Amino acid sequence: MIRTTLAHFFQFQSVPAFAEKNFTDHFIYADKVMLTLIVIQWIIATAITSISYDTYLYGFVGGGLITLTLFAAYRVFKGTRTMRALVGVGMMLFSLIYIQQHLGRIEMHFHVFIALAILSLYKDILPIIAAAATTILHHGVFNFLQLHDISLFGVPVMVFNYGCGMDIVLLHGIFVVAETMVIGFIVKLQIEYAIELNRSENQVLGLNEELSFTSLHDSLTGLPNRHSLYTQLNLIVANANRNDRKFAVLFLDLDHFKNINDTLGHNVGDELLKSVAQKLKSIIRENDIVARIGGDEFIIILNDFNEVRVLEPIITKILTLFHHEWTVKSHFLRLSTSIGVAIYPDDSKEIDELMKYADIAMYKAKAEGRDQFSFFTATLNAKVHEEVDIANDMHRAFEEEEFELYYQPKVHIESGKIIGAEALLRWNHCTKGMISPDQFIHIAENTGFILKLGTWIIEETARIIRRIKDAGYADIHISCNVSTRQFQNLNLYGEIKNAVQTNQIDPTLLSIEITESVMMDYLEVTLEVLKKIKGLGVHICRDDFGTGYSSLSYLRRFPIDSLKIDKSFVDDISCCQKNETILLNTIIAMGKTLNLNVIAEGVEQGYQMEYLKERGCEFYQGYYFSKPIPEKAFFELLKKNHASLGTDGELI
Ligand code: C2E
Ligand code: CA
Ligand code: CA
Repeated sequence: MIRTTLAHFFQFQSVPAFAEKNFTDHFIYADKVMLTLIVIQWIIATAITSISYDTYLYGFVGGGLITLTLFAAYRVFKGTRTMRALVGVGMMLFSLIYIQQHLGRIEMHFHVFIALAILSLYKDILPIIAAAATTILHHGVFNFLQLHDISLFGVPVMVFNYGCGMDIVLLHGIFVVAETMVIGFIVKLQIEYAIELNRSENQVLGLNEELSFTSLHDSLTGLPNRHSLYTQLNLIVANANRNDRKFAVLFLDLDHFKNINDTLGHNVGDELLKSVAQKLKSIIRENDIVARIGGDEFIIILNDFNEVRVLEPIITKILTLFHHEWTVKSHFLRLSTSIGVAIYPDDSKEIDELMKYADIAMYKAKAEGRDQFSFFTATLNAKVHEEVDIANDMHRAFEEEEFELYYQPKVHIESGKIIGAEALLRWNHCTKGMISPDQFIHIAENTGFILKLGTWIIEETARIIRRIKDAGYADIHISCNVSTRQFQNLNLYGEIKNAVQTNQIDPTLLSIEITESVMMDYLEVTLEVLKKIKGLGVHICRDDFGTGYSSLSYLRRFPIDSLKIDKSFVDDISCCQKNETILLNTIIAMGKTLNLNVIAEGVEQGYQMEYLKERGCEFYQGYYFSKPIPEKAFFELLKKNHASLGTDGELI
């Protein structure tokens, strides 16, 4: 019973590994405090005896021996239990000196209790036990010496000045043991408290570490995120300034990544991003940084160079890195990336601006065909500013009805009859005059304004079909261009249906022209929408045919009625007619085999038309017949054309 109670009170917890370092630090610190106190005691012991007693040798020599021994021990044992035990003994030997100096005066025994209390500063029981044992031993031995009147250095040995005896030794011993137990318990509590404190401190530290990792890293790839990138960039800027060096910000955006996500699912997309992250990490140097700042957007910082020309091989290496086949979840994928580059401090000294410039340059790389890099330039910047102006101006222009559709006739080669027209957008700007769509369509696409504009174009096309019908012309088809971005408009189908119904037109007279990019991006969604549009009876024309690479397989999958041969093939037709244009011939033949209407665009010369006619191309469009013209002019042309032809379409 007593044993278990004692065990409960005096069972000292051993220091767990996580707290070891803190405890060792504390022990070393306490060793130093103790040594300081020892030195102070030495000074006091010396001072007291030299002033009032002739026992100064005890104070100076005895205290000195203890002090020097402990200092020597500190060099070998600091922070260890040996050191603590030695300090415990040393502290008590000072009691011995004080008591002996004062010839056993009882007040001097209080030093024992103060010393024991001080030793509790060590969060360890050993020095206290060592000290208590020293005291009890001292009392016993000196009591014995006193009893036999033995003197030391000419001074009688005295431990109790009022007489000695075992009863007094015992009484003192009991007090010392009691004090030791009380202090021992306090020390036990201190140790437990310190360990607990360490435990929670460690937990907080661990949590902090985890938090700072997750807040600084992208959870999918483990790469630094935008926040961490910016923090690191601040250091890199400081470094570049100090050493007069440059660094490059590379903005990477994977090409057609959305297709992979849409068609194979996010799991595959995520795995691919992880592989990309690993690959990128593996090829950059230790000083460089790869971060992921968005879906499929990565930033690479190429650090510490003097001349920009060293960059090109590295960037080319990154581009080619993407060219191998990627295997993700048993899918074999092809991938490429577009890279924009901005240089510190050449392009800008502001981090935000550098990132923006690299982004702009990346867009240029995309616009120029993807799978390439582009450096930021001042011209590019000016262009971007101009584009921002245009983008802002477009809303006003729309309200003030500055947009207009022009019509370029489509002609039946055999008969010369206008069978329809392509509606082409024009911007009749109040101050800048006529702006061609090449200058603003892509901006409208980027800003999303094309959605609003596109709706209007479709409605306007339906309205002119109505007006043509009302003017008495039958079977005149009008096509309008629909860009990729418009397929993100969830209501594209609804808008077309609405335009057809409101104007009560024959849907087969309306057709939409789509380019390859429409078919490539958002593949599945687009296919669905196209099928629904086709279901209305509206025609679908594949624009700029022959320029891309998806040709045949896509043609089969998509509900297409006609092919428009790109102008570049028509340009190949030479006046001398000796050269056969194999590709052009193949496209015409292919269109016919697939039972599609084939129309050639950009026909500027009579011989081009003749060539096309001979190869069996039925329709054409181009400056040779007419440029795109305003509605009024188109009606006049239509009238003239019909007047010159018989009702059966034969020339008269
Ligand atoms: P596109 O759809 O390929 O249109 C044909 C372009 O070739 C038109 O340029 C037309 O004026 C031009 N063209 C026609 N015949 C000839 C010729 O014989 N010689 C030469 N050199 N050029 C010829 P435009 O009107 O400047 O339009 C450029 C592009 O802008 C269009 O290319 C189309 O991609 C886009 N675009 C035009 N209007 C619209 C629109 O309403 N909506 C959308 N989304 N895009 C449009
Ligand atoms: Ca077109
Ligand atoms: Ca075209």
